[in-house]
Amino acid sequence: MLQYRDLKNAIHDLGVKRSEPTLVHASAALIPQVKGGIQTMLGAILAGIDNMLMPSFTFKTMLIPEIGPEENLIEYGSGREENLNASIFTPDLPADFEDQAISEVFRHYPDVNRSNHPILSFLGLGLDGALQAQSTADPYGHIRYLLGKNAKVLLIGKDISALFSIHACEQESGRKQFLRWAMTEEGIKECPSFPGCSNGFHKVLFHLEGEVRQVTVQDQPWYSFSLDSLTRTTLQLLREDPYALLCNDLHCEKCNLIRKDIRQRRG
Ligand SMILES: [Zn+2]
Repeated sequence: MLQYRDLKNAIHDLGVKRSEPTLVHASAALIPQVKGGIQTMLGAILAGIDNMLMPSFTFKTMLIPEIGPEENLIEYGSGREENLNASIFTPDLPADFEDQAISEVFRHYPDVNRSNHPILSFLGLGLDGALQAQSTADPYGHIRYLLGKNAKVLLIGKDISALFSIHACEQESGRKQFLRWAMTEEGIKECPSFPGCSNGFHKVLFHLEGEVRQVTVQDQPWYSFSLDSLTRTTLQLLREDPYALLCNDLHCEKCNLIRKDIRQRRG
């Protein structure tokens, strides 16, 4: 069983400084391994970090329209029945992604606020400026807001594919992303720059070399990155090789469509 002290020490060993704004991705799969569960996990995280962001994704707001752009991996018109069950995004809508158990407890902490992207919202403590910088039209605004501010990214029991910040680099580099739709209080909204596949993101580790801190907790690696160096390295990589960080699954529709888009743009 992991104790509060183990988690606190691991976060300390990852070089996270209390004053640095930190994007935290924490795995709900860890909960049964921690004495005291979610409260202990959040307690240890907040003991080491003053200002943090955490995902609070809500995929149940998504809709499939009757028509839309081509090359978007959606079968238009196929959602007539499921659309009826879509939820309207509000700041109080519970998250429904794999780590929702932790994110839902954090959401109810005092002074925690939420951005208003209907699918890819983040929770924030002490980072209202970042939360306001994300919008439906700009799902990566909060990441850009944190650039140049000594921000860290922390992966607690999550693998590299959880790095949402890399999707921000993909957008910045001009890589094809997708258009999705979500139900909001103002009706159905288009959500541009929706991220593609992240299964190839681990390839970035090789290029980061000395810029990653890693500790092993119960045989599992936990990581911390400087957001600035992660962003700089990823952007350079994507500039040098537009096919970088795509996954190796020959049947991955998203990555294959991105490859096709790159080939077309290169003529
Ligand atoms: Zn893929």
